Amino acid sequence: MGLRETLSVGVIGVGYLGQHHARVFSELPHVRLAGLFDTDLRRAQEIGTRLKVPVFDGLEELVDRVDALSIVTPTVTHADLVLRVLARKRIPLFLEKPIADSVVSATRILSAVREAKTLLQVGHIERFNPGVVAMLESGVRPAYIEAQRLSPFGLRANDVPVVVDLMIHDIDIILALVRSKIQTMRVVGTPAITPHIDLANAWIEFENGCLAQVTASRVSLEKLRKIRVFDRRGLYFSLNYDTRELSQASVRLDPGALPEISRTKRTFEAEEPLKRELGTFVTSVREGLPPHVSGEEAFQALEVALEVNRLAEESLLRFRDLKESDPLP
Ligand code: NAD
Repeated sequence: MGLRETLSVGVIGVGYLGQHHARVFSELPHVRLAGLFDTDLRRAQEIGTRLKVPVFDGLEELVDRVDALSIVTPTVTHADLVLRVLARKRIPLFLEKPIADSVVSATRILSAVREAKTLLQVGHIERFNPGVVAMLESGVRPAYIEAQRLSPFGLRANDVPVVVDLMIHDIDIILALVRSKIQTMRVVGTPAITPHIDLANAWIEFENGCLAQVTASRVSLEKLRKIRVFDRRGLYFSLNYDTRELSQASVRLDPGALPEISRTKRTFEAEEPLKRELGTFVTSVREGLPPHVSGEEAFQALEVALEVNRLAEESLLRFRDLKESDPLP
């Protein structure tokens, strides 16, 4: 697609997150929010009235009127919606994360996008956290990573395991930082409130020797979102994703002298990450550039997340085999 003055964008699904997609598209330059579609018509009308944009009662009607679409519906619906949209019109798509709920569905999405020769960006929003951007741009070569994403229990996204909803954010960042294949994983996890895994801890070893320890919980008493990265050359980052506070330390080792440690701390401005994210989507579409987070990267993150979840379920079976009468080791 050549450079267009104004891109007509539609949003499918205007629930908890989709309402913000619609608002952000209505505020971005070079974009006209052309309309909304949601199977919950009352909800669509509520958001349509708020933003003064048309609401369509059929998916195809919206598709026919736009140059690009954002899909912000429950994860289990992603594959069917992408296929329906692309069968109607080969347009660029922004799809919320995770790309799908299974490898089979994610494969269907990637095949349809390839066949349509169109652009797909997936909503791994933490890539737009300025602290993450700084780490990725630093050329860091991680030797050890520790990530924690803990949330109090809420009513959203409990239809998928915590690994696929929350840990996938850190998995995506870790894959982008390490850029090596996974060698082995060891995982423990357990349900606590939902029937799915609600908390998990994964030990991930990469072929290049990096080790990542990742914890996710949605039944925590407090909210915590942190990542620490130790580089091979004595560089250290600690990022609080929520406050965007990035601490950095580097160690200089001179023979015969005490190690010299220099530290810096930066707090990045609170620019709305969704605005940066959807802004890059619009730029990619208008300028014919590759997406910031591709379908293939989102597929990889999903594959790892599903394997972590499978191993967490397996760990649970091991624990269930332990009987209270068993002697302590
Ligand atoms: P939600 O349930 O609040 O909203 C989903 C909306 O989609 C609802 O209004 C529903 O009526 C509508 N819908 C359902 N099926 C539909 C269909 N077939 N066609 C059209 N509309 C349909 O869900 P949510 O919390 O907004 O999550 C939506 C997606 O966004 C999920 O994939 C979720 O994982 C993702 N998400 C990502 C982040 C992030 O950090 N990037 C945060 C929250 C949610």
